[in-house]
Order: sequence, then C-alpha cells, then structure tokens
Amino acid sequence: MIHYKTREEIELIRESAQLVSRTLGVIAEIIGPGVSTLDLDKIAEEFIRDNGAIPGFLGLYDFPNSLCTSVNEQVVHGIPNDRPLESGDIVSVDCGVLKNGFYGDHAWTFEIGEVDPEIKKLLKVTKECLSLGIEQTRAGNRFGDIGFVIQEHAEKNGYGVVRELVGHGLGKKMHESPEVPNYGKRGKGGKIKNGLVIAIEPMINMGTKEVRQLNDGWTIITGDHKPSGHFEHNVAVIDGKPEVLSTFEYIEKALATREGIVA
Ligand code: MG
Ligand code: MG
Repeated sequence: MIHYKTREEIELIRESAQLVSRTLGVIAEIIGPGVSTLDLDKIAEEFIRDNGAIPGFLGLYDFPNSLCTSVNEQVVHGIPNDRPLESGDIVSVDCGVLKNGFYGDHAWTFEIGEVDPEIKKLLKVTKECLSLGIEQTRAGNRFGDIGFVIQEHAEKNGYGVVRELVGHGLGKKMHESPEVPNYGKRGKGGKIKNGLVIAIEPMINMGTKEVRQLNDGWTIITGDHKPSGHFEHNVAVIDGKPEVLSTFEYIEKALATREGIVA
C-alpha cells in the first residue's frame, strides 16, 4: 500500500533529504585520489550526527556503515573500505539519514581525478535519465512512464538498465511502496497521485544489464565488470507536479570551487 504524505510530512522528508544533500556536499569537498571510502564514511557519519540526525543506512538490514560506496563495476550497496581511491575511479556515494522520524536517501557518482571520457559520458547520461524520470513524476502519469523514459534514454546510448534493483517510496521507512523501476512501458503501472514521495535512482551499466552480488552479501557488481553509474533524488508530487526534495547544489558548488583551485 502506498502511503501518501501530507504537506507537513513532505516538509519533514525535505529536511532529511536536504541533510543528505549537505552531507554529499561535504563529501564533494574532500573526495579524491588517496582518500578511502572508509574515510568518507566516518566524515559523513559525524556530519549527520552533528546535525541532529542518525545515519539511515547504518544497521538497516544489518548494513555495517553510514554510506554505500560503490566503485567502478560496483553498482550499489558497496561497503566502505580502506583502499585509497585512485585517479580514473568512479564512486557512487549513496547516503541516507533519519531525522524527525523521516528518511532522506540520495546519491551521486563522483569522478576521481582524470576519468576516461567514455565513463564521463556514462555518468552524464545516467544523470540525464534521472532528470527525465523526475519530469514524468506527475499526477495522472503512471509509474511505467518514469521507467520508460529512463530505459529509453539509457538504451539509446547503448547502456544496460539494471532490473534487479529499483527506486522506491520513502517516508517513515527508507523503503516503502511502490517500487519505481528504471524500465517500463508507457501508460503501464499504478497512477501517480499528489502526496507521493519516491526515490528515483537510475542504475545504468556501460555494458550488460546483468548484475551479481559479491560474497560479502551486499555489493552488487556488473556481470561484465564494466562501470556503472548511479544518481538518486527524492521527489514529491505537489499540486500535480514533481518537486525535488533533495538537491545536487552543494555537490556542484563544491566541485566547481575545487576545479577553480586546480585551474
Ligand atoms: Mg540511496
Ligand atoms: Mg534509494
């Protein structure tokens, strides 16, 4: 059953989503070659707690950390470790928080140092898939409309759309009904209504859509070990239209500032 949210509840989810956005902004200031994903995890956990929230992933289904950090061929659910990131890597940093009883959950795939242009294109297209999906999140549309535009854009570029993992409703629980697949048919699936809050999170593979899970019981990797991109936003339907509750603004500002320093 889908739990539609009141305006008040949506504002509380926005507050949680914005804290995730700010946490990812802090990550954007420090991520780079030589930094480990475990370093990022510690900084994120501290920042979340300092802001009166608790990490949303830590302990959820027994996940051991505050961030999911998925490097290169890892799609999602990667466990932070002490390997220093290297130039050419990409890493999806997925972060959740619980504040005032409501979750926020969003993600960005970072480029480490100099990244291959083909991989940069994968990330650009994955981010475009997210925007296209958000645009379809309107009252009267159906969930299949979201999946359709994401799948169409990814496949047009020759990429694989992961089937086993999907976006989801979000609220008092991190994962609520409905499932929000990144594939689908136009006009199919449940109707989108005001008060819906979902996490849209395309997971787009450079090669095959097939994935498998590592023996750690968590990490999902691509079947052909080619890289995968992942971007996620939290979106509410208000007055019939999509409203993005999270923001990439803090990340983009931090990255632009750093590039300015390098130049
Ligand atoms: Mg997430
Ligand atoms: Mg999610």
